[in-house]
Amino acid sequence: MPDEFVTHEMWPFECLRCLHVWEVRYVVKHLSDAYGNEADIWLSGGVPAPPPWAGTSCPGCGAYHVTWFPNGYLARHPELVSGPEPEPEPVRVPAVTRVPARAPAARRSARPGRLAVALGVPLALFVGYEVYINLGAVHMGH
Ligand SMILES: [Zn+2]
Repeated sequence: MPDEFVTHEMWPFECLRCLHVWEVRYVVKHLSDAYGNEADIWLSGGVPAPPPWAGTSCPGCGAYHVTWFPNGYLARHPELVSGPEPEPEPVRVPAVTRVPARAPAARRSARPGRLAVALGVPLALFVGYEVYINLGAVHMGH
C-alpha cells in the first residue's frame, strides 16, 4: 500500500567561506509506493528544497561550500548564532483598561502609540526574517 508520513527537521549550517551560521527548518515527506520504492520530498518554507547535503547555499554570501552540525548543536552553542532576533517579550496588557475621563488627550494617545511600536517592531523583524528565509529557499533551487 502507498504510504506517506511527515517529519520535521531542523538543520544547522555553517558557511565555510564567510563563517555565517544559520538554521533551516525542513518538512520531510517520506513516500513509499506499493512496490516498496521510497522517496523523500524536502520542503523549506513550504516550497520544495534540495536535501540539506545537496545544493544548500549560504544566505549570507551565496556560497555552496557549507557544512552542517548535528541536530541540536546550535541549541547548546547559542553564541554561534548571530540571528534571528530572540522572541519578543510578551506584551503586558494592563488589567485596568478604564481611562480616566479627565486624562489629557496627549497622554491617552501616547499609550496606543507605544503599544503599536512594541507589537510592530518584533512583528516587522519576524516577517522580514521569514521573507529573507523564503527568498533564500527559492534561490537555493537555482
Ligand atoms: Zn557565506
